Amino acid sequence: MKYMRTASFAKLVEALGRDYDIYAPVQEEERLLLQRLVPGENGGGASVAWNPARLGESLKPIWFQTSRVVSRWTAEGPEAGPTPRPRAIIGAKGCDLAALGIIDKVFRDHTFQEPGWCAAREQNLVISGDCTTCLDSCFCTMVGHAPHPEAHFDLNLSPLEGGFGVEVGSPKGEALVADHADLFEEAGGEQVAARDAARAEMTERVEAQNEPHAVRDPFAQSIEKHKSNRLWEALAATCVQCNACNMVCPTCHCFFLVDVAGEEGSSRLSCWDSCFEGGYARMAGGGTPRLQLVERFKNHYHHKFVSFPKNWGVTACSGCGRCIDACMGRIDKRACLHRLETEWLPSDTLQGVQ
Ligand code: SF4
Ligand code: SF4
Repeated sequence: MKYMRTASFAKLVEALGRDYDIYAPVQEEERLLLQRLVPGENGGGASVAWNPARLGESLKPIWFQTSRVVSRWTAEGPEAGPTPRPRAIIGAKGCDLAALGIIDKVFRDHTFQEPGWCAAREQNLVISGDCTTCLDSCFCTMVGHAPHPEAHFDLNLSPLEGGFGVEVGSPKGEALVADHADLFEEAGGEQVAARDAARAEMTERVEAQNEPHAVRDPFAQSIEKHKSNRLWEALAATCVQCNACNMVCPTCHCFFLVDVAGEEGSSRLSCWDSCFEGGYARMAGGGTPRLQLVERFKNHYHHKFVSFPKNWGVTACSGCGRCIDACMGRIDKRACLHRLETEWLPSDTLQGVQ
C-alpha cells in the first residue's frame, strides 16, 4: 500500500485535469453532489470533497449515458456516434464499482460487446474510496459486497491520519503512481493495520443495521419458492410505476433504440428503458406477457435475484440502497425480500394490482 498526503491528492487531481474531464463530489450547501470540475468555475483539486458514503446519484451515466447517439446517417453515408473525452471519476464506492462489474458481464465480457460501454470502460479512470459511514438504506453486505472497493478501480483511497492509504488496482493506476511518484510514499505497517481495522468496523456496521432484514435462504431461493405468493400484490400495492428505482440503479442497463430525423441526416439513439413500463416486454403484434404492474414488479425482482445470477453468476444488485431512497411508494427491497421468506398469502393467480 502507498500513502498520499491530503495536499498531494489535490495536486494529483489538478494534474489529471490535463488528460481527463473530472467528475468528483463537491459540497453544494447542505449536499454533496457529483460535479464536473471546471477550472475557474467550481475550482480544481482543492474543491473535491470526501464523500463518506455513496452519493445520491449513481455514477452509471458517466459510462452509460441516459441517451446517446450510437450512429448517424448523412448524405455521405453512415458514421459512428461521437466518443466523449476520457473521464476521471473520483469518489466511487464499493457498491458503485461492484455495479460496473455486473454490467460488464452483459456489455463487455461476452460475445456481444456494447461499443460505447467498452470504450468508456477502457478510457475512463476511477479513483474510488472506502466508506467511512453508511446510509440507512445501504445493504452491500447482504448481496456479497463490502463497504470498500474490491475491484474495478485504478486507485483506491482509504482515509488515514493526514491523508490516504492508496491501493493500486490496475496498470493504469500503476502508471499514474509512476508518473507522479513525488506525491506518494510507501505506507507503514501501522497504516495498513489502521485501514484494515476501519474496514472491519464499517463492515460490521452495515451488517448490524441489516440484521432486521436477514433471510435464511438466498434471495433467489425464496423468490423461486414464492412465485405464486399473493404477498407480491401487497408488496407492489404502493408502486406508482414512476421508474425511479430503475433510473437510480447502478446495475440496471436496459435500453431501447430510437431513430430521430434531423436536417443534416438521422441519428440512432440508445435511451434507458425501464422494466416497470407497460410496453417494456411488448412484442411485435402488441401482446405482452406482463400486462399487470404486479407482474412487472415481480419480474424486476426475479431478474435481479434469480435469472441474472443464473445467467451470469452474480446478483444484479450491489446493495447501494438508492432504489429504497428514491421510491415514492416507500418500497424497501430488503423488507420485501424478508417478507417473501416469512409471509405467505396463498393463491395461484395474481390479481388486483393494475
Ligand atoms: S421507485 Fe417505487 S414506485 Fe417507482 S417504479 Fe420503483 S417500486 Fe414503483
Ligand atoms: S436494485 Fe436498488 S439496491 Fe440494488 S443496485 Fe439497484 S438501486 Fe442499488
